[in-house]
Amino acid sequence: MKIEKIGVSKLTVVIPSKILANGVNMPYLGLGVYKMTNREEAIQAMSKALEFGYRAIDTAALYYNEEEVGEAIRASEVPREEIFVTTKVWNTDQGYDETLRAFETSMKKLGLDYIDLYLTHWPVEEKFVDTYRAIERLYEERLIRVPGVSNHHIHHLEKVFLKANVKPMVNQVEMHPYLSQEQLSAFCKENEMALTAWSPLGRGVILQDETILAIAEKVGKSTAQVILRWHYQHDSISIPKSVTPCRIKENAQVFDFELSKEQMTRLDQLNKNQRFGKNPDNFNFDF
Ligand code: NDP
Repeated sequence: MKIEKIGVSKLTVVIPSKILANGVNMPYLGLGVYKMTNREEAIQAMSKALEFGYRAIDTAALYYNEEEVGEAIRASEVPREEIFVTTKVWNTDQGYDETLRAFETSMKKLGLDYIDLYLTHWPVEEKFVDTYRAIERLYEERLIRVPGVSNHHIHHLEKVFLKANVKPMVNQVEMHPYLSQEQLSAFCKENEMALTAWSPLGRGVILQDETILAIAEKVGKSTAQVILRWHYQHDSISIPKSVTPCRIKENAQVFDFELSKEQMTRLDQLNKNQRFGKNPDNFNFDF
């Protein structure tokens, strides 16, 4: 497959970054690539995102597209060090030694010699603390720039803190206006942990919400843009997934307008603790 080289001059959006606890900059918006298993479609989406100004890609061993992520990065003219790559250790590979091995496999698939952010994908009982200890070792060995976790409730984080020398600097959880994660967000802030929202658009289901539609009409933006702006104004990082070029571009154009205090409050009030994915306290996967 021929991949067109991306000229940095075509850049359409500059995405701001959050400064993490160790001073590393993480873009407030990245491309989520879950379910991008069609090789050509995945590379095309990632390449378009880099062309539009995205500088972060969120993958995982489970997504079976780490090779494609590496390929899209190598095909772009954006220097590797300007792209923030996240990947995750899958549940069946957790534990201390297993995580170190899984990391090596991910590095090989990505074709990279370091990863920006490595996460425990889900807090597998009896294993997630050791998994994080291995991630901490990778951080000490400078193979990753940031250690983190995903799908950790406060009680999981407290267990990790008991054994950690360095606290996780990012927690990636399901978050959108129907699941605002207020308590977890306050806890993460207190502990200098950035929150990344997965399914930031509620998997697309909440794009027809009447309140969000009304605000979108008022500010002259799409509902997806209003939601992504809401995340940003809450100081959260988002990783919306799309394989559709115009949507990839649209999702990045959220740094040129502001929601008022009243609009933010109306969006906050949509919370109903509704999950579209699994609850980290009950997440048996049959694979
Ligand atoms: P999202 O909330 O990002 O929604 C994705 C869906 O919304 C897709 O169907 C996409 O369609 C559609 N969409 C995207 N942008 C627009 C737009 N502007 N207008 C209309 N529709 C739009 O959900 P995901 O569950 O995919 O989550 C995003 C990312 O979060 C994943 O890719 C993954 O990286 C991460 N994640 C992490 C998890 C974890 O356990 N840590 C769990 C789940 C996800 P289309 O692609 O057809 O354009």
